[in-house]
Amino acid sequence: MLDSSDIDITQSFAVLPEPTRLDKVVAHSQEIFQTGSWEQVPWRFGNQEYWLKLNIKNHSNNARALVLRFDNPMLDKLTIYRFNHTNTLEEIKHLGDLQTDLSRLEYAMPHYNLLLSGSESQKILVAIHTSGISKTPLTIHELGAFEQLNRNAFSLWGVFVGVLLMTAVYNLILYFSIRDRVYLVYVGYILSVMILLGIVLGYGFYLWPIHWQLYFHHQVIISNYAIAITTIGFCIMFLRYHKDKDSAYRIAVRYLQLLIILCFISIFIPENYAAPLFFTTMPGLYIICFWLIYKKLKSGFRWAKFYILSWLPLVCSAAVQPLELTGVLQYSYLTRHAFLFGSLLEIALMALALADRVRYQRKQALYHATHNNDSGLLNYTTLSQRVESLQKRNRPFSIGIIYMRSFGGLQSVLNVEQSNNLLRNVANNLADNVDELNCFNVVHHSDEKIVELSGGCLAFIFPYHARSVINQKLLHLLARLDTQFEIDTLTLHAEYQMAVIESLSPDHSVKQLVEQACHNLQKSTMLHSSVQYLDHNEEPKPNQLALAAKLQQAMNKGELRIFYQPQVDLDTLQVSGAEALLRWPEQQHRHFTVENIIQLAEQVGLINDLTLWVINTVCQDIAAQGDAWRSHSVSVNISAKDIHIDDFAQKLADMLSYHDIAPSQIKLELTESALVDDIQALKALIARLAELGVRVVLDDYGTGYSSLEYVLEYAFCELKIDKHFVLSMAQSTHHQAIVRTTINMAHNLGLLVTAEGVETQEVAALLREYRADKGQGYLFAKPMPLNDYQHWLAHHRSQH
Ligand code: C2E
Ligand code: MG
Ligand code: MG
Repeated sequence: MLDSSDIDITQSFAVLPEPTRLDKVVAHSQEIFQTGSWEQVPWRFGNQEYWLKLNIKNHSNNARALVLRFDNPMLDKLTIYRFNHTNTLEEIKHLGDLQTDLSRLEYAMPHYNLLLSGSESQKILVAIHTSGISKTPLTIHELGAFEQLNRNAFSLWGVFVGVLLMTAVYNLILYFSIRDRVYLVYVGYILSVMILLGIVLGYGFYLWPIHWQLYFHHQVIISNYAIAITTIGFCIMFLRYHKDKDSAYRIAVRYLQLLIILCFISIFIPENYAAPLFFTTMPGLYIICFWLIYKKLKSGFRWAKFYILSWLPLVCSAAVQPLELTGVLQYSYLTRHAFLFGSLLEIALMALALADRVRYQRKQALYHATHNNDSGLLNYTTLSQRVESLQKRNRPFSIGIIYMRSFGGLQSVLNVEQSNNLLRNVANNLADNVDELNCFNVVHHSDEKIVELSGGCLAFIFPYHARSVINQKLLHLLARLDTQFEIDTLTLHAEYQMAVIESLSPDHSVKQLVEQACHNLQKSTMLHSSVQYLDHNEEPKPNQLALAAKLQQAMNKGELRIFYQPQVDLDTLQVSGAEALLRWPEQQHRHFTVENIIQLAEQVGLINDLTLWVINTVCQDIAAQGDAWRSHSVSVNISAKDIHIDDFAQKLADMLSYHDIAPSQIKLELTESALVDDIQALKALIARLAELGVRVVLDDYGTGYSSLEYVLEYAFCELKIDKHFVLSMAQSTHHQAIVRTTINMAHNLGLLVTAEGVETQEVAALLREYRADKGQGYLFAKPMPLNDYQHWLAHHRSQH
């Protein structure tokens, strides 16, 4: 610091209880001054006067330029008296913030230039008056060293203020974009720290007008309160207590209010009272903040780690200042700047904590957007997004949907938590067993594969394979799944059913297909675990458009035909009616089935016209029979899309009256899969038709897995068991069971039952045994043109 080899320095000091005049001090100098290093001065708060004395002698012949540096820019008043070797007062210099005519450097770094000529000795007396922090470390430097010290201090301050300002601006911008007030509190904290350190270290004189800085000096305790208030505010808001509004929040807010009140009071009381008062509030602040942090940590708050770390430098560096002021710690460059370094570190850690918090909140938001809140399983949106991305990349895939039979029924006995637990267990079990299918992950950065759909259905996506390849694996999967689940003390027996939706083109409504599959699974009456493949309509290909045009022409030119297939009473073998089936003779030999024609008509929007054409043709045919067909009814197949024909029932009624046909002479057959469409519209239509006297039959029963109970909601009068079950009845006891049960249940519900696909006497016999009402099938007759049918009918009647 100072090359003292050629210089003699004697330091002494005196602490006087009240302001004393210079002449008195000089006169009693022997009694009142105590020789000793200035480091021993017992600085403390309060209205005292400190006198420091320096006797200095230059032994060399060279002049020495020295600087006395008073490291306390907060001094109120400091007076320097310089005496020459004859004890004559040569100069008086006033420093301290009560002075109004000092340079910025004299304010920021109070100092006094001392020029010693060769062999000169001088005496310096320094009087220090302050009502605040009095500690004024006094050091002697060579002029060059002092200037170097200043340059170092300016660099450090520059970096510190620069970092703080940038952080404050950045967080202010964040506040305006995120609108989370915690950023504003953080900016407040940064500014408070910047102002306080500007006062304590003195750089504030370079930041804003001198009179502002002098005002801040006067109110230094306010900036201390500002730090305390923003600290507790940040703690509350960062940890989101303002959202909980619990007792901890209320206590913290009370304390905050207390600090604000004390801060206000401090403006009006002297600093030597205000400062100790402020320091007594500090333990409370620490206790409350640590309590808030502890409570959140206990409840599993994970993003708080940087915030907790940020307290370390604060607590450590905040302790240094009082320890230094009270003399426990030695004054040094490091202790003087401890709070600066501590705050810098703390503010950086707080910024990291905020960033961590945003990251965590974003993760949480993403989690809530992709998961069902109750079960914690992935939601439907994730499935549809994954499907979309696979479609974009032309990756063929299938969606498997699984349903635990009886899950719907269990809902009434389990509470919400139990049924969510059950669903989670089923999903976990499923996830453990789908390896063989190489399922796709549904969301990025997670290996979750199971999605929860409505009503307890679970879905997963896997690469597309032909049914023959995949079916075995799916059956394996079903077989491997747990068949028992424990919910509390209840053991539940589980059976599953599965639906597979195969590779979809981007034009298909995944939602609709998934809903349909879920609906089918939930309504399924299948008694054993099974896999069903959900057919979806292929998009019309270019050559199909040409075909559709041909179909339209054929319809207009009368090239389409209606064939009739009789329906026979199984007991009496009387013919009760016939089913009208569409034929397009020109396409017949080209492996183009009636189903294909109907599908095409549905895709291109021709189906309504086609249906009306069929009904009209059938009406003509019936009318042509006159009274012969009065007790004979013809069933016409209608498509799900016909439900929406404008005023369909009225159109039908008009056709009947035009052709003078009784409503009982016609029936409409609606295939089971149409039931999932617009339920309300369908119910209304069936009710309206019933009013007219036109009966509606549920066709292909068993393909759509509707429960009979569900069917009952619609006013069907009759049910046709799908030929799939009937054809194989003789070979499959399982199908026999299904047919028998269906007949029994349908009868109990007051429905007539027709079995289609009766090809053998054996099956007819079984159906009779099961008391089916009517049969339709090749055993009796294949579908045939009207003329042939008339002949067949005449022949049949003559025989029975
Ligand atoms: P569907 O309404 O279930 O008609 C019964 C189908 O079973 C008819 O096939 C019939 O030929 C066939 N079938 C009847 N008995 C037997 C049998 O013993 N063995 C076998 N293997 N098959 C038998 P088709 O005529 O090929 O019609 C197929 C489907 O096309 C119909 O099934 C119906 O859903 C639809 N369809 C036919 N005509 C129309 C129509 O005019 N409009 C609408 N919307 N759909 C129609
Ligand atoms: Mg039919
Ligand atoms: Mg059928």
